[in-house]
Amino acid sequence: MKFLTIANAGVQHLSPYQAGKPIEELERELGISNIIKLASNENPFGFPESAKQGIREALDDLTRYPDANGFYFKQAVAKKFGLGSEQITLGNGSNDLLELIFQTFVSEKDEVIFSQYTFIVAPLAAQARNAKARVIPALDYGHDLNGFLAAVNDKTKLIYIANPNNPTGTFLTHQQIEQFLTQVPSNVLVVLDEAYTEFTAASERVNSFELLQRYPNLVVCRTLSKAYGLAGLRIGYAVSNEEIAGLFNRVRQPFNCNSLALAAGIAVMNDDSFIQKVAENNRQGVELLERFFADKGLAYIPSKGNFVMLDLGQPALPIYEALLRKGVIVRPVAGYGLPNHLRISIGLPEENQRFLTALSEVLGL
Ligand SMILES: *Cc1c(COP(=O)(O)O)cnc(C)c1O
Repeated sequence: MKFLTIANAGVQHLSPYQAGKPIEELERELGISNIIKLASNENPFGFPESAKQGIREALDDLTRYPDANGFYFKQAVAKKFGLGSEQITLGNGSNDLLELIFQTFVSEKDEVIFSQYTFIVAPLAAQARNAKARVIPALDYGHDLNGFLAAVNDKTKLIYIANPNNPTGTFLTHQQIEQFLTQVPSNVLVVLDEAYTEFTAASERVNSFELLQRYPNLVVCRTLSKAYGLAGLRIGYAVSNEEIAGLFNRVRQPFNCNSLALAAGIAVMNDDSFIQKVAENNRQGVELLERFFADKGLAYIPSKGNFVMLDLGQPALPIYEALLRKGVIVRPVAGYGLPNHLRISIGLPEENQRFLTALSEVLGL
């Protein structure tokens, strides 16, 4: 029996996620120590103290099921951003939210629109449901909103926009997003994935929650995996109008967020000083890398995220491997169709410096 032939049509063409090896294993294989990982846009400050405290307090109650409604977490999010709790949907990270959004709205007969070079989860979620993906060629590595609009037809169900975009770091302004929303038919959902919004200067950030009041077809996804430093716990949230949130909650697994994630989430939502520290370190790190690349005549994509894309103008894999042998893990992005680029996550100042030193040695700069 070939079980592939009886799997759902969309699943037959999916490829499994290629996970990296654990750092300890790489160190053993390469015979080196002190590897630094600047590959997954994780928070270089590690797990916030406030979150640890929240978890300690929740540890004694793990016998019980989590609070399915995430009452206090939603309350913390709602208070911080001036939202109603009924607008918020819990996710086991925003990957889970994207799956939930597709599960709720997208089926085989639908079309979804997204950009070339965007976060892999949207293409995967479309593929798994055998929905038709309209992949719009990137414009300067970012989303071509006019291209998106031109692709809308009566089968279009959803448009996915990661802003800032991963893996390219490109950014659309509030005005560009709003101008776009005015032209999208009201029966087409616009999913705005703002996993990196905390890294954008407050003055430049898209005020997406304000846009929700005028564009009920907008769904905003946020995560605690990046600036909040909770990637290993898995928690994120979607913000939408109440009716849409109600539909998501019909599909959502009631216990998709575990008790520890909720407790840590509540704690970090009230930890503004941590986010400020993280954002400031990131701003300086992006500036350092971009200035270095510019000085050395290396091409890069200006970033509003917590990573920078370096364009080596030659196959990036040998350079990735040479950096690895020097104990610096960065992210090759050939899988995204960018074989000459490397994505470097911003680390602590000494980590950024180690990357630049390793790169200089590898490229003979
Ligand atoms: C990292 C990232 C996420 C976050 O995923 P989680 O499942 O919340 O860890 C979401 N969207 C984009 C564009 C990302 O790069």
